Amino acid sequence: MVARRSSRTQADSPAENVSGVLLPLPLKGAYDYRLKMENGAEPGAFVTVPLGNRTIIGVIWGEAEGGVEEAKLRAVSSILDAPPLNEVSRRFVDWVARYTLSWPGSVLRMVMSTPEALEPPKPMIAYARTTLDPEDAGLRMTPARRRVLSVLHDGPPRLAAELAREAGVTTGVVSGLTKAGVLEPIPMRKPTPPQPDPTTSGPTLSADQSAAAEALREAIASGGFDATLLDGVTGSGKTEVYFEAVAACLAAGKQVLVLLPEIAMSAQWFERFNERFGAPPAAWHSEVPRPQRRVVWRAVAEGKVKVVVGARSALFLPFADLGLIVVDEEHDGSYKQEDGVVYHARDMAVVRANLGAFPVVLASATPSLESLMNAEAGRYRHLRLPSRHGGASLPEIEIIDMRKHPPARGRWLSPRLDEALAKTLEAGEQVMLFLNRRGYAPLTLCRACGYRIACPRCTAWLVEHRLARRLECHHCGHAIRPPPQCPSCSAEDAMVACGPGVERVAEEVAAHFPEARLAVMASDTLRGPAAAAELVRLVEDHQLDILIGTQIMAKGHHFPQLTLVGVIDADLGLTGGDPRAGERTFQLLSQVAGRAGRAALKGRVLLQSYMPEHPVMQAMAAGDRTRFLAEERAGREASSLPPFGRLAALIVSGPSLALVEETARALARCAPRIEGITVLGPAPAPLATLRGRHRRRFLIKGGKEARLQTVLRDWLAAIKTPSNVRIKVDIDPYSFL
Ligand code: ADP
Ligand code: ZN
Repeated sequence: MVARRSSRTQADSPAENVSGVLLPLPLKGAYDYRLKMENGAEPGAFVTVPLGNRTIIGVIWGEAEGGVEEAKLRAVSSILDAPPLNEVSRRFVDWVARYTLSWPGSVLRMVMSTPEALEPPKPMIAYARTTLDPEDAGLRMTPARRRVLSVLHDGPPRLAAELAREAGVTTGVVSGLTKAGVLEPIPMRKPTPPQPDPTTSGPTLSADQSAAAEALREAIASGGFDATLLDGVTGSGKTEVYFEAVAACLAAGKQVLVLLPEIAMSAQWFERFNERFGAPPAAWHSEVPRPQRRVVWRAVAEGKVKVVVGARSALFLPFADLGLIVVDEEHDGSYKQEDGVVYHARDMAVVRANLGAFPVVLASATPSLESLMNAEAGRYRHLRLPSRHGGASLPEIEIIDMRKHPPARGRWLSPRLDEALAKTLEAGEQVMLFLNRRGYAPLTLCRACGYRIACPRCTAWLVEHRLARRLECHHCGHAIRPPPQCPSCSAEDAMVACGPGVERVAEEVAAHFPEARLAVMASDTLRGPAAAAELVRLVEDHQLDILIGTQIMAKGHHFPQLTLVGVIDADLGLTGGDPRAGERTFQLLSQVAGRAGRAALKGRVLLQSYMPEHPVMQAMAAGDRTRFLAEERAGREASSLPPFGRLAALIVSGPSLALVEETARALARCAPRIEGITVLGPAPAPLATLRGRHRRRFLIKGGKEARLQTVLRDWLAAIKTPSNVRIKVDIDPYSFL
């Protein structure tokens, strides 16, 4: 422990100690600094230290590393007036770094995402009337000054801006009065906004729901680590059930973290929470403005904010006393962070709960095979909600065999989907059409010479966005205006769009159902959470008949009038070398299907497919999750893929192809030859170039108990990487591009 007193302790001069200070930089470990044992010099305290000729904020991490000459040791410059990072958070940082093979400082950097929050909040200054008479102060009473005084006469002290606005004057008038002594500044603390109230009661739960809620409440009451898989069909009330756990945790005085995928699109969720608990939770995601983040970060560290709802990055907030994590839609791919520190937020949530000795709840209608196996092995409690709330039935699912019922030339909807659409609209009900592809068309080619427009920096075609009049790379953002002639053969009017995106489906539907009110919901057509919320409201109020969108539309929404869901290309996502392609497609299709018929009206789902015999389509049509999972599981077990074996990937990348290949060869030469570990590669990545960097991949396979991290650490230590080549380590990869 750092706070260990040295034997030199004297009453008059504070003792000095050498401590490890972790800096939010890609460094091997904590650096040693001298530290005066004064108030606040405890492990976890945020401090400033000199590094080279810079001053950097770091965290007192623990014992000194040693090995630094006494004379070269520098001293901690200051201890910041901020709540220290508690032990659980510090152990979590170390754990994530070890598991992902990242620098601990890189993980700490995620914790310190909002360094401005480490400065104590500036008090706000309000202005109050003094007893001094303006006349005595030698001030002439102008109408402006008089209005300011009369506003203050009728009310409490106000901020300068407020006061000026109410009196209809400039803030200069307020400062003039203050200078003369007629007003006085008084510092005010911003009050913490009202927090969710756990004593409010929720709806009356069904028998299944209340059994599940009771189990969660017990887990919270008995304390300690506990993991639950809350496995319930779409619309079964999983949210209502975990709200009970949230209430129990709040009642115990602890903080709660709820992770949601696509949080910016979750207006309905926020509304429900607000209704249930009488106050909104604090939101944490990339769209939250910086000043607000600063407030939230600090309040979370001080334990003043009780509930945070966030994207995966919220897992790294400095919770003072976290008592529950809920991971909603636990199977969702967006929980995997692919850049910087490569981690899976669902898995790390379980780790954080374990370190902090509190419960974690993983909720899903289509749990990942990993979580199901954990439940089966008894590591997780398995709570099931097999039926929809209020007797709503699950939708009927049919496959449209596109080989038998192909769309008309130049169209994407089969006549059978057309027909269903027309009937649904006639009945005054709503339709959702799903296609997981943004833009108008995924490929533009020249009819004359066959030239295809590709991204100059990535192995990818440019996607046409017709509304925005541009062709765009979905990997790097590179965009150009659609060229009037072929860039290769200069033929005029020869460029044609191939394949559909949501914009193109919208165009087709608008042409065939001109009366219907429709909207497109994709991440590039919505400008932020407010626009998404507005669109959701339009659907709820039935001011829209047809909603056409990508996967951001598939999640969580509850639209009672929505009875038909059409999936334009159910096969999309089944191709490619991803071992989870089938599972992921099944999950996505189930989730989309789950939007139909959630209330009194019966729902229907039509899946357009060119391979209706594929196990995923068969399972969807039969509504047979169990059989699908059994097959999927057998396949994974036979090839020792997760969760029956472990995977890791190495991605070697850099601007010079020669150097990348050389590094990959060097890695191959010293690849581990260890029983039970297989190394595949190097092979060009499917995305062989990305943002102008060439990419080569290795895949490392091992048994369930394989210590892949150790193997990788030794392997990587054996080679020297040229400075402009990067080796990315991806433990438990979910992307194989
Ligand atoms: P899930 O999260 O499993 O998809 P939700 O919690 O969103 O399910 O529930 C679906 C709908 O049913 C929501 O509108 C919810 O408010 C409602 N609901 C669920 N359980 C109850 C209940 N016990 N009483 C009243 N309404 C409920
Ligand atoms: Zn690109």
